[in-house]
Amino acid sequence: MRRHAPLALVLGLSLGLARTGAAQDVDFDKVVIRSEAVAPGLFVLFGHGGNIAVSTGGDGPVLVDDQFAPLAPKIVAAVKALQPEPVRFVINTHWHFDHTGGNEPFGRGGALIVAHENVRKRMSTTQFIAAFAREFPASPAAALPVVTFDDGMTLHWNGEEITVEHAEPAHTDGDALVWFRNANAVHTGDTYVSGLFPFVDVSSGGSLAGIIRSAEQVLARVGPETKIIPGHGPISNAAELRVWREMLVTVRERVNAALAAGKSLERFGAEKPLADLETRYGQGGQGFLSAERFLAIVWSDLSRPQKE
Ligand SMILES: [Zn+2]
Repeated sequence: MRRHAPLALVLGLSLGLARTGAAQDVDFDKVVIRSEAVAPGLFVLFGHGGNIAVSTGGDGPVLVDDQFAPLAPKIVAAVKALQPEPVRFVINTHWHFDHTGGNEPFGRGGALIVAHENVRKRMSTTQFIAAFAREFPASPAAALPVVTFDDGMTLHWNGEEITVEHAEPAHTDGDALVWFRNANAVHTGDTYVSGLFPFVDVSSGGSLAGIIRSAEQVLARVGPETKIIPGHGPISNAAELRVWREMLVTVRERVNAALAAGKSLERFGAEKPLADLETRYGQGGQGFLSAERFLAIVWSDLSRPQKE
């Protein structure tokens, strides 16, 4: 089955795709879902798309994000291996297709879908992401969140306190941080992507400043032992998130200096101003977003009239 791949391409989430920009396809049949334990009753599933957290226990499985619809049977099988009961809740960290693509099959399977109210709003209508000049159609009704929140909410479930908290506009305007209090873990959605340049979805209300503040919001409340489950990339921790936040601050300073000097993006880009960060965060141009692509996205954000 080969479909939905242009979405991965558009969001720049596939290895190599962002680099080549070619209309490559993703073969979902070949995707393997790998499970990693975070704490008793808490796991992460890695496949294709956003990282999935799974809470297990007496009340039944809860997922944070659900990747792509064609992967739902494999995700169901991976969850069953952890706990045989059907999924009861799916919490979406934001509206992007690589995090909500499985909503329709899981919703039809009886799971209640939970998200920030802006996730439901955006999934209900056509969306346009300017950075990729791409339109996304409205989702079918069965895929929409049925429980929405403004500032946050808590699920008392599986002996856990699962607190879903709105991060102020960061990656998008509907981002959620999902805290697992007893497990001492947090799923950050795409407000943090470990070892990668982040996508700032300006069209969906995101901003670099918001991503930096969201990292600070998380750092203020985690300890050295806290497991940080990023939207993409391996399971991380406070020390790594701190370094990542500093990288973003550095990029912001460089771009703001170029803007203040009246440079054009073309002229500034020719200086390769993020070359020192490319190997680590752009994976030598083969990562999530290349340094060149990330620079263009940050430029489009910071060259807008700033609110602060
Ligand atoms: Zn995203």
